[in-house]
Amino acid sequence: MNLILLGAPGSGKGTQAKVLAQKFKLAHISTGDLFREEIAKKTALGEKVGGYVTSGKLVPDGVVTEVLTAKLATLKDGFLLDGFPRTLDQAMALDQFLHKGGKKIAAVVYLNLSEDEVVKRLGARRNCSSCGELYNMVSKPPRSAQMCDKCGGRLVQREDDKEATIKKRMMVFRDLTEPLVSYYKTNEHFIEVDAAQAPEQVTETIGTELGSVGAPPAA
Ligand code: AMP
Repeated sequence: MNLILLGAPGSGKGTQAKVLAQKFKLAHISTGDLFREEIAKKTALGEKVGGYVTSGKLVPDGVVTEVLTAKLATLKDGFLLDGFPRTLDQAMALDQFLHKGGKKIAAVVYLNLSEDEVVKRLGARRNCSSCGELYNMVSKPPRSAQMCDKCGGRLVQREDDKEATIKKRMMVFRDLTEPLVSYYKTNEHFIEVDAAQAPEQVTETIGTELGSVGAPPAA
C-alpha cells in the first residue's frame, strides 16, 4: 500500500506518519527530513537546498522530484509520503513516475487544521537534537523543559519554526499546496481528518477510514 499524507506545517503530519508507517509497515519518506539530513551532513545537495529550507521557501520542483523519485526507486514495498507532493507540478511528476512503474496511491490522507491552530502549534514545537523525538510544549510537553524523555538529548526549535518563517510557510501552503486538496479529492481515495483532535484519535480515524478503502489490516 502507498499513501500520501497532506496537511499544513504543524498539522501533525510527522507524528502521524511515524505511527502509520509502523502500523502498516510502510517506508516513511519525508522530504523535509531528507533535506535536513543533507544540510546537517553539509553535502552538495544540503548546500543547494539549505537556504530554501531555513527561510521557509519551497525547494524547486525539479530538485525535490529528482531526490524523491530516486528514493522511491530503491523501495520494494509500500511507502508513506510526508511533505511530498507540495505543488501541482510535483503531484503530476509523481503520477507519471508511479504510472511508469505500475504503482498506485491507495489513499491520500488530508490532516485539516485551522491557520490559528497551526501558528500556535508550530511555535510550541520542539524536537530532540539527538534521536529526533517530537514534542509540543503545550500538547505534548517533555518531563523536563529542555531534555528529551527518551534519550536525554537536548531539545531544539527548528530554524523554520520561528515566528516570521511560520507565516511565510503558511503563505506557501495556502498558495501552492492547498490546491492539491482539490486535485486529490477528485482523483484518489481521499480521506479528510480533523487534525485538531488528539493525535491518538486522528490515528484511529485514519486507520478506520483506510480499512474502508481496502487497506490491509494494521500490524
Ligand atoms: P517539512 O519538514 O515537510 O515541513 O519541510 C521543511 C522544508 O523542506 C520546507 O519548508 C521546504 O523548504 C522543504 N521541502 C520539504 N518538502 C518539500 C517539497 N515537497 N517541495 C519543496 N520543498 C520541500
